[in-house]
Amino acid sequence: MRIAEIRTTEIDIPLRTPFKTALRTVESVHDVLVRVMADSGECGYGEAPPTAVITGETIGSIRTAIDEIIAPTLKGMEIENIDGIMHRLEKCMVKNTSAKAAVDMAVYDLYAKACGKPLYQLLGGSNKQLETDLTISVNPIDEMVRDSLEAVSRGFRILKVKVGKGDQGDVDRMIAIRQAVGKGIVLRVDANQGWEAKQAVRLIRAMEDAGVAPELVEQPVKAHDLDGMRLITASVETPVLADESLFDAKDALTLLQTHAADLLNIKLMKTGGIWQALKICSIAEIYGVECMLGCMLESKLAVSAAVHLAAGRSIITRADLDGPALCRVDPYPGGPVYDGPAITLNETPGIGVDAGFAFAE
Ligand code: MG
Repeated sequence: MRIAEIRTTEIDIPLRTPFKTALRTVESVHDVLVRVMADSGECGYGEAPPTAVITGETIGSIRTAIDEIIAPTLKGMEIENIDGIMHRLEKCMVKNTSAKAAVDMAVYDLYAKACGKPLYQLLGGSNKQLETDLTISVNPIDEMVRDSLEAVSRGFRILKVKVGKGDQGDVDRMIAIRQAVGKGIVLRVDANQGWEAKQAVRLIRAMEDAGVAPELVEQPVKAHDLDGMRLITASVETPVLADESLFDAKDALTLLQTHAADLLNIKLMKTGGIWQALKICSIAEIYGVECMLGCMLESKLAVSAAVHLAAGRSIITRADLDGPALCRVDPYPGGPVYDGPAITLNETPGIGVDAGFAFAE
């Protein structure tokens, strides 16, 4: 079975409410879709969001990278030669990790279909069910309290709260949310690089002292500020989770060797796909450091690739895979089932999500 054709198109899915972080505001999931077709006619599908503020990629750059460089590089390769395909994908151009991730997951989808197994079983298959958190956007406090209570009423027991103004308001937000949702709900804090190191230590300690008891604090300072990450990790009890500081396996090694984080947030759009993410899992296993599997603003297709990876590796103990829960509609047949916070893996071959409709001529 050889790769006969790789094509791209676009999809646009409205969000239930605008997604706001310290870095941006987004109204819909407008992503690139990829179809890798084998000479047998079987297809694998992938997806990439344009997260310019994090990966530097746009809809145009992702499509150009795939259409003009990746597709001609991989065409004709045997789909069973996953190792060969992934090495060529890595080497054909630098960066462009989201474009690579979309093709990587489409190749894995096709490979698992060729093997007749759901992808998570090929990746290790330790889990059939995951529980995801839900993101609460940064807004005025009363709005965030309302959104948090609505999330709890939808069944979510873990909330990831976006902060990032870097003042007492961030502490007040977390106190108000903790008081509203009660002690039984897990609260994660994501500053999206919005704080300075000493300020972060002060804010996190204030949250600890006020009884907010955050499970973790994600990326408090700038991605490149590893000294700041190290200072915070050493100074507070709350575990520090590296997100924007972690793209590839080399970053994971640096973070863990220098004690600049307690936990790692893996996202396929940063690593360049499942193949590279598996390297981070291996490094994390060596250091005994647990991982979260996260997503950008992705629809069910890309999130499901992440779901299969998370279900396949026991070092991934946390799922921040709420993309489908944030979308107003689900246009795709098949794949894992998303029911509030519960994600149940499909037993059908591949990733299981059918994006064929988007490529209909
Ligand atoms: Mg984050």
